[in-house]
Amino acid sequence: MSLGAVEISVVIPVMNEAQHIRNTLALIAAFVSQSSSSFEVIVIDDGSTDGTWDALCLAASDLPQVYGIRLSRNFGKERALCAGIEHAKGKAVLVMDADLQHPPELISKMIDQWRNDGVQVVEAVKRTRGRESLGYRVGTKMFYGLIHRLTRYDLNGASDFKLLDRKVVDAWLNMPERATFFRGMTAWLGFTKKELEFDVAPRTSGTSKWHFISLVRLALNAVVSFTSWPLRLVTLIGILFFLGAVILGIQTLYMKLSGSAVTGFTTVILLLLGMNSVIMLSIGILGEYIAAIYDEVKGRPRYVVRENTSTLSQRWQGKR
Ligand code: UDP
Ligand code: MG
Repeated sequence: MSLGAVEISVVIPVMNEAQHIRNTLALIAAFVSQSSSSFEVIVIDDGSTDGTWDALCLAASDLPQVYGIRLSRNFGKERALCAGIEHAKGKAVLVMDADLQHPPELISKMIDQWRNDGVQVVEAVKRTRGRESLGYRVGTKMFYGLIHRLTRYDLNGASDFKLLDRKVVDAWLNMPERATFFRGMTAWLGFTKKELEFDVAPRTSGTSKWHFISLVRLALNAVVSFTSWPLRLVTLIGILFFLGAVILGIQTLYMKLSGSAVTGFTTVILLLLGMNSVIMLSIGILGEYIAAIYDEVKGRPRYVVRENTSTLSQRWQGKR
C-alpha cells in the first residue's frame, strides 16, 4: 500500500482484550471493507498484561490492513488514542473501542456521511448507555452537567466513536497539550458535524477498564483543561470573604469601643471552620491547575512506543 493511498484509518486503543481482539478486528475489518477498499486498522496496545500483543500480532498476520503499535506501558486510553491518530495516514480517521460496544454496523453509515455529504466530524452519540451501575450513571450525569455549565460544550451522550476528516485530524494534531481529552478537543475544534445515534451494546468479553479513581482523574483533567473559571471563582470567594471580614471587623471594633463586646465562642469556631475549608478548597483548585501546568511544561512525550507489528515497521521505513 503506497503512502497517501489509505482512505480510512480505523484507530482502536486496546488494553487487556486478548480473549476477543482477533475476532473483533476481523469483524471490524469486514465491516470497513464493505465501504472502503483501502483502509488500515491501527491498534494501539496500551500496556496490556494478558497476551493482547500476541493476539494482535496474529491478527496482523491474518489481515494485512491491521497494524499494531505497542506502548511501553499503560498510558491510558487518551494517550493511546493520540498514538493511533498520530500514526494514521487515511483521508479520514475513525476512532472506536475494541469491545464492540461501539457497533461496527454504524461504520458504513459514518463513512457515507463523510464521503457523500462532506461532513467533517461524524459523531456517534449514545441513545442508550447499555448496562451501567447506578453510581456510574449518576457520576457521568454530574460530570457532563458540570462540563456543560463550566464550558459551552454539551458532551452528554458523547462517545469516542467518531469519524474525523483529515483536515480535522491535522487541526487536532496541532493542539500541543499533553493532557488530551479527545471528546472535548473535537468539540472545541468545530467543523461541520453530524450526529448518529447508537445503543451501547454489552461488552464482548472482559470488563470495563475504568475504575473510580481513573474516572475521577479523567473528569478532573477534562475540567482543568477546558476551564479557567474555577480559578476566578477562588478570587471571587476571596473578595466576598474579605468584604465580610471588613464588615465584621468594623462591627467588632464598634462593640469593643461601646463596651458591649461579648465573647463569641460559637462565631469564632464557625468562622474558623468556614474559612479554613474555603482556603483548603481554593488551594486544591490552584493545585490542580498548577499540576496541569507542570505536566505541560515538562513537555514529555504523550506516549512511548515499545514495538510495532513488523508490517507497520516496514511501512514506516519509507516514511521516517
Ligand atoms: N483502554 C485503553 N487503555 C486504558 C483503558 C481502556 O486503551 O487504560 C481501551 C479498552 O481496551 C477499550 C476502550 O479503551 O478498547 C474503552 O475501554 P472500556 O471498554 O474499558 O471503557 P468503557 O466502555 O467502560 O467506557
Ligand atoms: Mg467498553
